[in-house]
Parts: sequence; structure tokens; C-alpha cells
Amino acid sequence: MIDPKTNPAFDGHEDVVFVADEALGYAGIIAVHNTAIGPAAGGCRIWTYPRPEDALTDALRLSRGMTYKNAMADLPLGGGKAVIYQMGPDRVACFEAFGRQVEALGGRYITAEDVGASVSDMRAIARSTTYVAGLPTEEGQAGGDPSPMTALGVFVSIKALLGGSVAGRTVTVQGVGNVGYNLCKLLADEGAKLIIADVSEKNLERAKALGAEISPPDRIHAVKADLFSPCALGAGLNSRTIPELGAPIVCGAANNQLETEADGAALVARGVTYAPDYVVNAGGIINVSAEYLGEAADVVEARVRAIATRLMKVLEMAKAENIPPHQAADRIVREKIAAAKKN
Ligand code: NAD
Repeated sequence: MIDPKTNPAFDGHEDVVFVADEALGYAGIIAVHNTAIGPAAGGCRIWTYPRPEDALTDALRLSRGMTYKNAMADLPLGGGKAVIYQMGPDRVACFEAFGRQVEALGGRYITAEDVGASVSDMRAIARSTTYVAGLPTEEGQAGGDPSPMTALGVFVSIKALLGGSVAGRTVTVQGVGNVGYNLCKLLADEGAKLIIADVSEKNLERAKALGAEISPPDRIHAVKADLFSPCALGAGLNSRTIPELGAPIVCGAANNQLETEADGAALVARGVTYAPDYVVNAGGIINVSAEYLGEAADVVEARVRAIATRLMKVLEMAKAENIPPHQAADRIVREKIAAAKKN
């Protein structure tokens, strides 16, 4: 059995639960990072990793990211995440079993969609637990697929970063899946020029219809543009890509974009403005939390649009205190968590 505490990504996580059902052929990890502000909320990622240890690293990093994201967005939630790294042939049965394991945590962890999971997977989970969001909802109620709201939060942030309009500006988008495609639609509607990359032909074809140019996936970060938007997987900003970046601003939906802490400083040194991932990609969790709390759909959009103002405040603080933006964001969050612990 792997000991989570020996993993470099371990950050005082409250609970790390290895979940599996040998007969069904599924295995995963639920990581509860912090519940000081509320129950740990964060999606369930379905992904294959070279080793279970890599799945653990991802679960630890992603759950910590959710603590920061939820606190920054002023949601009454802590941070958690699940990763299923082995999926059996009976997908519905696997999700039902996963739901039982979420239920066993008694509400300390609330799940929803992430990469590789869909609304129908959430339906299967909901057969065994109520601690699940991202489900189809009644007309007027918040909920459903969170990716359009995630895309909206990134879009309003991009607009603010580009001075209020994207018309005629070139935006490179890495990954045109659920969020990336919705983002491309919003950008194209307002007249941005799009250059995109994806490893999925199907997703590329769909986005091509928006008039986007295609770049090879391993070069998209280096393409000359006004803004680069990482919307695929994490760790895309690293010692290899940062020296080659073709845009002076980075703002995208992918979680954990900085491979290491030092990469945030490397971006500043290169004169690149980095919009901290968890500040701008909170639209989905804002939607999910409104669903979970039974709120109306119309409160969600205003909250998501407020992300742009929050981002600008983080960037101003970073400038005033001469620290990288991700550190400014982290500082704001740590203060919020400390205040919650006192109460
Ligand atoms: P998705 O799986 O629908 O899309 C990801 C896309 O990236 C896919 O089309 C995939 O083929 C592509 N991709 C994978 N590797 C790539 C590579 N090397 N180069 C280019 N493209 C590549 O996932 P999503 O829901 O759109 O999420 C995208 C990112 O945003 C993830 O990091 C996710 O954690 C994050 N995020 C998503 C949400 C949400 O609401 N879905 C919310 C917050 C953060």
C-alpha cells in the first residue's frame, strides 16, 4: 500500500482513501485536503497513469487546488478530489461502487464531473450517494454540465486581461474539450482569431468549424499570440515551455498549470502575466456548488462574471507586493482559511 504522507505532493491532507473493487476491476483515490471552510468539494477525474503513485500525486495536487479554488471563489466549501485510475468494463457498476465509497465518507467529500467523466456517470454515482453534483436539474435550477460556466469564467478573465475586448486579438487554445470548445465559441462570437491544438481529431474537427487554425499540440504554447489559454491537462507551464511561450499573457482553464513553484517566478522573469488557474477556472465549481445548495440558475452567471474582478485584484496585489500572481492568490486564500479556523 502506498503511504500518501511520503508523496512530495502531500500537504497535510485530512483524508486520503484508496477505493477499489477487484471484481469490477476499478481502482481510485479520494483525497480530502481541507474542510475548514466546509465539506471538501471537487470533481472525479477518470484517467490512466503510468503508476498508481502518479494517480496519487494528481489526487493530492488537485484536491489541494480545490481548497484554494473554493476559498478564493468565496464558496462555503473545502477542497477534495477523486481520481479513478482503473475503470472496469461495467462503467455504471463502477460508478455505483464509487458512490458507495463517497457515501461512506458521510458528506466530508462531495463529487462531480472532471476530465473523463460525464453527467451520466454522475447519475450512476447518485444511485448510491446524495453527495454528488453535476446532475441534470429542473428548469431554472443551477446545475448540470459545469464546463460552460468554467469557460465563461475564463472568457471574462481573458477579456479583462486584453483590456475589455477580444475582437481582432489572437488567442491560442491548448485543448478543445468540454471547456476549451465552449471557450472557443465565446471567443469566436466576439471576433477573436483562434489558433487551437488538441490530441483528439474529433474535438479538433468540432472546433475547426468555428474558423480556428490548427497548430501541432507540442508547439501551441510557442505560437505567437496575444494570449495563450491552456485548457488541456496540468503542468503545461514548465522549464521547457516557459522560455518558448509565444504570448505575453497566459489565462486558461487547466488545473495546476505551473509544474513547479519556481515556474511562477520564471513567468514573471520573462515578463509574462499569468492568471492563476484556480482564480479563473472556478466557474464550474461555482455552478456545482449552487446546484448542491439548491440555488437558482440565475445567481450563477453573476458570480462567474465576478471572477474577472477578483483576478484583477490578485494581479494588482502581486504588482504592489512584487510577488508572482500565484503567490498573491495563495496568500489571500491562506488568510481566509486561517480566519475560518478561528471561527
Ligand atoms: P476534456 O477532457 O473535455 O478536454 C481536455 C481536452 O484536452 C481534450 O480534448 C483532450 O484531447 C485535450 N488534450 C489532452 N492532452 C492534450 C495535449 N497534450 N495537447 C492538446 N490537447 C490535449 O476536459 P475539460 O473538462 O475540458 O477540462 C479541461 C481542463 O480544465 C482540465 O485541466 C480540467 O481539470 C480543467 N477544469 C475543468 C473544469 C470543467 O468544468 N470541466 C473546471 C475547472 C477546471
